[in-house]
Amino acid sequence: MMRTHMCGELRPEHAGQEVSVCGWVASRREHGQNLAFVDVRDHTGIVQCVVDGAHQLRSEFVVRVTGIVRDRPEGTHNPALATGDIEVGDCTVEILSEAEPPPFPIGDRVDADEILRLRHRYVDLRRPVMQRNLRLRATVSSAIRRSMEEQGFVEVETPTLIASTPEGARDFVVPSRLQPGSFYALPQSPQLFKQLLMVGGVDRYYQLARCLRDEDLRADRQFEFTQLDAEMSFADQSDVIGVISQTVVAAIRAAGREVDDAIPTMSWREAQDRFGSDKPDVRFGMELVELTEAVAGTGFRAFQAPCVKGIRVPGEASMGRARLDRLTDQAKAAGGGGLVWLKMEGEGLESPVAKFLSAEEKAAIPKALGAEPGDLLLLAAGERLIVDRVLGQLRLELGRPPVNEGGLNLLWVTEFPLFEGLDSEGRPMPAHHPFTMPHPEDLDRLDSDPLSVRSQAYDLVLNGWELGSGSVRIHRPDIQQRIFSFLGIEPEQAQARFGFLLDAFRHGAPPHAGFAFGIDRLVALLAGEENIREVIAFPKTQSGVDPLTGAPNPIDARQLTELGLRTLPRPT
Ligand code: ASP
Repeated sequence: MMRTHMCGELRPEHAGQEVSVCGWVASRREHGQNLAFVDVRDHTGIVQCVVDGAHQLRSEFVVRVTGIVRDRPEGTHNPALATGDIEVGDCTVEILSEAEPPPFPIGDRVDADEILRLRHRYVDLRRPVMQRNLRLRATVSSAIRRSMEEQGFVEVETPTLIASTPEGARDFVVPSRLQPGSFYALPQSPQLFKQLLMVGGVDRYYQLARCLRDEDLRADRQFEFTQLDAEMSFADQSDVIGVISQTVVAAIRAAGREVDDAIPTMSWREAQDRFGSDKPDVRFGMELVELTEAVAGTGFRAFQAPCVKGIRVPGEASMGRARLDRLTDQAKAAGGGGLVWLKMEGEGLESPVAKFLSAEEKAAIPKALGAEPGDLLLLAAGERLIVDRVLGQLRLELGRPPVNEGGLNLLWVTEFPLFEGLDSEGRPMPAHHPFTMPHPEDLDRLDSDPLSVRSQAYDLVLNGWELGSGSVRIHRPDIQQRIFSFLGIEPEQAQARFGFLLDAFRHGAPPHAGFAFGIDRLVALLAGEENIREVIAFPKTQSGVDPLTGAPNPIDARQLTELGLRTLPRPT
C-alpha cells in the first residue's frame, strides 16, 4: 500500500502510529538547522510533516511521507486546520514526481486570470475550493439519479450524432465522412428522442444528458452543459412538477442545505406583474407597483401611457446624479423611454418632474409604493411589456443579494405564453419549443389572437436563475402539424425535418410531459459560485476556447478532403 491514511484525516488518536501519506508539497518552512515543516496536501486536507534535510523539496513536488504521528508541542496547535493538533515526525520522504513552480498559488483565493487558470486547469483543480465543487457536483448528480430511480424512472442514453432538434439556439454540426456534404447536429437536447421513448413504451425516462448549444457564453452558460432530462407518459403538468420537485429537493438536501418540501408556484403573468421577469428572484422585495390608476388623468405627458409602474429603493434618496443618469441610460437601453425618479426627502418630495405632478399625485404615488423618508422611487411609463422589463432589470441591479446570501428560493413559474412574440416576418416564435401543448382553454384563440394563447409550459427558478423548463407535449399529429404551420414550417418542410415524429405519433402516442434542469447551474448556486465554470472540470473561456487543449483547432487538408470540405479564408 502506498499510503495508510489520507492527509486530512490524521488526529490525536493516531498519535504513536507509523503512517504513510501521499500528496503534493503545499509549503515548506525551514525550522532551524536541517529541519523543515513540510505541509503535504491531498484532496482531504493538509498535514504538517517534520522533515530532516528537506532541501530538495519544492512546492507541488509529489511525495510519499512515512513517519510517526505525534501531538504538536504546547502552543503550536493550529485550530484553523483539522489536523492542527498533530504533526508527523521522524519522516522519511520519497519524491514520486518533481514539479515546476506552480503558475499561481494554490489556495481558495486565486488572482490568476481565467486563461492562466484554464491553461493549467490540472493545477487549478488542486485548489481546495475546486475539489469541494467537483465533489459537491458528484453528490448532487448521484442524489438526482437516486431520486429519479426511486420514482420509477429508467435511465436511457440517447445519441449524440443526430438530426437537428430545435431549442432556439444554433446547432453545433459534425460533417459526415460517409455522406460527404451532409452533417449531423449535436443535440441541443434529447427532446425528440425522449418523446419517441414515450411512444416506445418506456413510460418514465431520465438521463443526465450533455446538451450542446452554439450561443454566446455568459456566467451561467457554456457551449456544453449537463441537464437532468426527464419525460413521463400518461402524466400532466402537476405530475411532472411533483417528480422534479422531489428530485431537486433531494439534491439540495444531499448537498447539506435546507429547503422546504413544497415549492411555491406563480403564474407567468403574476411574475411579470410583480417582478418584471419570468424568472423572478424572490429572495428580496422591491416589487413592481401598479400606478396607472393613481396617475390616470395626469397632466404630465410622460405618464400619459398605457402603463405606469414604480419600485421603491429603500434608503437610497441620497443617490447621486451620475448614478441616476446611468440608471436612466440602462432603462433606455432596455427599450424604455426614460426613468422618473422621486426622492423622499424628510416630509417632502424632490424630483425634476415634481412641478408637473398634481398634489394628489404627489401623495398617491408614495402611498401606493409604501414609501418612507429617505427612499428613492423609480417610475417608468409606456407599454406594459417594456415597463415590466425596465423595472425588473433595475430591481435586480439595485436590490439583488450576492449569490450566497438569502437562502435557496425555488419557484415554479407556470402558464407561460405559447409564443414569445413575432419574428421579423411577423410569425409567432415559440416561447419554449414547438412540441409544447397549448393550454386547452385557449386553443380556440390560436388563429384569432395567438399571442394571448397560454401554453402548458413551466419553468423552475432558483434565486432568479432559470434552472430548467418543461412542458406537456403535443401528442396528436394534427395539433403538431397545426403548430408547425403556425410557426411557418410548411408541411413538406415539417415532414422532412420532423416526419419521423409525426409518423411516430400515428403509431399510438401516449399523452406525455417532461422537464429538464441544468445541473451546472444548480451546483453553482449550491456552491455559492457566480459562474458555472467553477463547477465544471474543463470549461471553455468566454470566447469558447479551451486554453488547455487548444480547441478548437484547424484540421489538416487531408482530413478536410476526406470529409468533402473546403474552408474559406478567415474574414479579416
Ligand atoms: N428540451 C427542453 C430543454 O432542453 C426541456 C423539456 O422541454 O423537457 O430546455
